[in-house]
Amino acid sequence: MTLPSTFPICRSVAALRQYVGEWHRQGLRVALVPTMGALHAGHLSLVARGLHLADRVVTSVFVNPIQFGPKEDFAAYPRREAEDAALLAKAGAHALYAPTVDVMYPEGFSTTVTVDGVSEGLCGAFRPGHFAGVATVVSKLLLQAGPDVALFGEKDYQQLQVIRRMVRDLDIPVHIEGVPTVREADGLALSSRNAYLSAEQRSVAPTLHQTLATAADHLAKGTAVDTEVAWGTSQLLAAGFASVDYLEVRDAVTLKPVSVVERPARILVAAYLGKTRLIDNQAVVPA
Ligand code: AMP
Repeated sequence: MTLPSTFPICRSVAALRQYVGEWHRQGLRVALVPTMGALHAGHLSLVARGLHLADRVVTSVFVNPIQFGPKEDFAAYPRREAEDAALLAKAGAHALYAPTVDVMYPEGFSTTVTVDGVSEGLCGAFRPGHFAGVATVVSKLLLQAGPDVALFGEKDYQQLQVIRRMVRDLDIPVHIEGVPTVREADGLALSSRNAYLSAEQRSVAPTLHQTLATAADHLAKGTAVDTEVAWGTSQLLAAGFASVDYLEVRDAVTLKPVSVVERPARILVAAYLGKTRLIDNQAVVPA
């Protein structure tokens, strides 16, 4: 098969498999970067890392309806395929996989992948069904593409641990690579949802990262989790966040709650600025 010189966009599982199959026959390593589009420098850092770890990078763009709750922003979620394709071509990716909802969930679709333990609490408690939606679509994408490596951002830390657990439990033959969060100069984690923020909300948003960084520093020196959680929550509310879904400290791998940090941990937060829900997290490494 001769691959076209223009940037390929695959719409079907068969088209995707034709590319990946040909690359594998040529002995090349293939990376998959799953996204929901509206690409920014955070997504592109996953592509860059994929190019480092593999010879070919496929990025998928699919706004996955089953990971959105009924009151969430599925309809409003930004969709800009032409810009995404141009960004991916410029970043050196080799193909875009952009299936329709019908391709992913044809009539009669009845299977759900659920991951216990790591899916519970944190975002799992506030977004019922979210991680089952994520695990289901990611398992499909991995089976459709058959990549050697798949890359996910630490920005969605609980999601990363859910996927690691799922791949281990189901013996899916792929290496999962976590990629550090890309931030604006003022510390705000890049997110497609930052576009929803007003100018005033945008000026408050970096408090999320600053609060996590300060609390992580204290926790690493042995302060009690309860103290830092109470302090951090009051900082966010005083700065102008409307509400805090959670601010918690968890074991870095199992995501089980911890009260004092003695092993690598993670401090994770979800909070609302107006109607926009922002999430972030930070490593806590005991001194
Ligand atoms: P999304 O399109 O929001 O579903 O994100 C697709 C992938 O990009 C996920 O693995 C995210 O964790 C990752 N990602 C999103 N934002 C960032 C960021 N600021 N830095 C690094 N990775 C990110």
